[in-house]
Amino acid sequence: MEKTQKSTKRLKAARELQKVVADYYLRCMSAKSEGRPVGWMPPMNGAIELFYAMDLQPVFPENWSPVCAAFGLTPQNFKVSEDMGYSRDLCGYLRNIIGYVHGLMNEKDSPFGGLPEPDMILSPGGGCVPVMKIFHALERRFPNAKVFYADLPQVAVEDIKDYHIDYAMSESQRLADFLTETTGRRLDEDRLQEVVGLSDRACELWDEIMSFRRYRPVPFSAAEMGIMFVMVTLQGTQIAVDYLTRVRDEIRQKAETGTGVIENEKIRLFWDNIPLWYNMGLFNYFEKFGGVVVAETYSAAWSIRLDTQNPKKALALKSLMSYPLVSCVSIDKRKEMVLKACRDYAIDGVIFHRNKSCLPITLGQMEIKQALERELGIPSVIIDADHMDERNFSLAQFQTRVDAFMEMLLERKKLTG
Ligand code: SF4
Repeated sequence: MEKTQKSTKRLKAARELQKVVADYYLRCMSAKSEGRPVGWMPPMNGAIELFYAMDLQPVFPENWSPVCAAFGLTPQNFKVSEDMGYSRDLCGYLRNIIGYVHGLMNEKDSPFGGLPEPDMILSPGGGCVPVMKIFHALERRFPNAKVFYADLPQVAVEDIKDYHIDYAMSESQRLADFLTETTGRRLDEDRLQEVVGLSDRACELWDEIMSFRRYRPVPFSAAEMGIMFVMVTLQGTQIAVDYLTRVRDEIRQKAETGTGVIENEKIRLFWDNIPLWYNMGLFNYFEKFGGVVVAETYSAAWSIRLDTQNPKKALALKSLMSYPLVSCVSIDKRKEMVLKACRDYAIDGVIFHRNKSCLPITLGQMEIKQALERELGIPSVIIDADHMDERNFSLAQFQTRVDAFMEMLLERKKLTG
């Protein structure tokens, strides 16, 4: 096993993903010459549907970071941002994208041709502090881009009231007005309804795909999690719906014929926190012990169904719910979500990725670990690493901890049957 390694893809649809990714980034690069203004924004905020409804091109710097990790470009990007004075303790997404826009972006041989410069930047007032600071730094790098400051309250999902939704709807309208003013394009209500319908259909397919992971043997593991790409960048498009339909059909067929990820599934695992984007192959490491990662924290973010009869309200609600479901969630809520997933997917053991450069998702792991043991009797192990920075990951330490953990789980399984 290498320190940086790609995962083994067993789904045909997951192998097709490279083309979907390449096509998306090629469309981003050709947007300007095709007359589609480009906006850079954070993912998961209800703006993507407005962009696709107005035939604008959304670009997600956060998604570009895993691409850089997959192409081995992060060390160069980190060097640039660190030379600029950004601390190694900061979020890896932040350090990577800042390094990229000040370094490799100006060079020719970026993967997929690189990123197009933004005509607009959506600067979020919600999400974690690094996600906000990324866009402040991008505003300085691209001074000609028009900036929209999105002002959204951080409310726990269970505390969202009608007045929060009314306010989020007024923010969504303000964004639509900004897009019209900046690009001269008007928002067509029928087209918005169509796009929200496609976005909702993608979420429905996503939920269906995830539901097949309850099967034993599991037909699809975290090693194929790259399929999430379409949920990040293409929600609201027919491309996402068609791709997810192919994924769903393939997984359903595997589930119904009892075709598992591995032949002799013994241990079902849950992964907490973001994957190590430079080493997705770690998800295959558990297989030699008969272990498969059948569920993870990250995939829950894409289950926000939208009311297609009321598209503007649906997007307002989505803009309020996205962050509190992943990075800005209370410890109690996170605990509830992890415990529920462990029950739903019949989990035997949990891997906590203690992510050095993502504190929002790492906070509270010890409490969740204790609750898992106390309430469900599920053991867990902590892995020290980083979602972007391989310098914060020791393969030898990972192997030592995982080997001991998996052997303990196997022994336990023998005793409990
Ligand atoms: S949630 Fe974590 S990984 Fe995502 S931007 Fe914030 S600090 Fe970075």
